[in-house]
Amino acid sequence: MAHKASDRILDLHNFGEFGGVNPSISDSSTYTFLSAKTMFDTFEGNTEGCYLYSRHSSPSNLYLGEALAALEGTETANVTASGMGAITAVIMQLCNAGDHIVSSRTIYGGTYAFLKNFIKKYNISTSFVDITDLESVENAIKSGTKMIYCESVSNPLLEVADIKALSRIADKHGIPLVVDNTFSPLSIAPAKLGAHIVVHSLTKFINGTSDCVAGAVCGTKEFCLALKDVNSGAGMLLGSTLDSLRAASILKNMRTLHIRMQKHSFNAQFLSERFEEDGLRVVYPGLPSHSGHELMKSQMVPEYGFGGIMTIDVGSLEKANALMELMQKENLGYLAVSLGFYKTLFSAPGTSTSSEIPVEEQETMGLSDGLIRFSIGLDDDIQRTYDMMKNCMLKLDILARDKVVL
Ligand SMILES: *Cc1c(COP(=O)(O)O)cnc(C)c1O
Repeated sequence: MAHKASDRILDLHNFGEFGGVNPSISDSSTYTFLSAKTMFDTFEGNTEGCYLYSRHSSPSNLYLGEALAALEGTETANVTASGMGAITAVIMQLCNAGDHIVSSRTIYGGTYAFLKNFIKKYNISTSFVDITDLESVENAIKSGTKMIYCESVSNPLLEVADIKALSRIADKHGIPLVVDNTFSPLSIAPAKLGAHIVVHSLTKFINGTSDCVAGAVCGTKEFCLALKDVNSGAGMLLGSTLDSLRAASILKNMRTLHIRMQKHSFNAQFLSERFEEDGLRVVYPGLPSHSGHELMKSQMVPEYGFGGIMTIDVGSLEKANALMELMQKENLGYLAVSLGFYKTLFSAPGTSTSSEIPVEEQETMGLSDGLIRFSIGLDDDIQRTYDMMKNCMLKLDILARDKVVL
């Protein structure tokens, strides 16, 4: 087996029906059987390679699943219609009414809202903890705790989770560590570091073209089959199924993920170093000033860098909004949520993607009003981008002219 995840993805070859270099796209919701017995066995989950109904599995979804398992180094992977479809299925599968979850408090807004509000209906409670404080993580575990949940690099504050240490705590208590690796595909391999289940929003870097939403659960065969069980699987029964046509297009995009991640990271590293030198409050795990810098270094694959996301705190929401509007006017990127696009995307998370989090809680997390989250694009001449961004900041007095060496 190839040592590198990128080569493991490229080594997969599933030819199309007529020898096409890409696998054929399955264009059917249902499949015929030559014998009634095989149909029965397939229902029971016994017949590998047989397809029953496309909510259960389809050839195109299995091909994409194979690539995701190759990416994360897990036994297998299931794909879903969105990242939230993957995350909610995992949580519903692992928890019964009355159970408890220990989760990082700095997570994607949708996941936070699901854990904080939605699953109350099932009397499932969550303790939100500072994931970098291992003692508080362990102290939060109680008898009904069914999982530890975190993001390898968190949204939007870019906290780095110590996956090895967290997996040791999980193992000690006999519960799974579930890691959302959306921000750091290829650079961090949570399963290799001890995570039991890895979830993704494919919508972001993995697909990279901002043309669809999709998700994945990477884990053991046992868990992924349980998710698909026709009688009790949360994946199968909650019905968040990815369409085959989309699975096929995401698979094609995944083959360039390694090149894109290198460029996203290179550009984000370049800009974060320059803007920090200019005196701005920049948060990027690739900066030695970042509290998770050494930890990230110790658990990443260096050539993919520290990722494409950085934040800059420009002091106030008014300044943040003015800067984002000006940068969009100058064609430096788009004022939009989401990430992983070829074009730089920026948003103020406090009022957008993290707006599910109450204002007081945003404050204790360090999520300030003037924070802009950047998903740095694939600009080829990043010096030019830096010069143009700096001009926008000078115009709005975000950078003082006397502080900048022109
Ligand atoms: C976007 C995102 C999600 C949700 O994924 P969708 O595809 O939008 O459902 C989950 N986790 C993280 C870290 C994300 O950035």
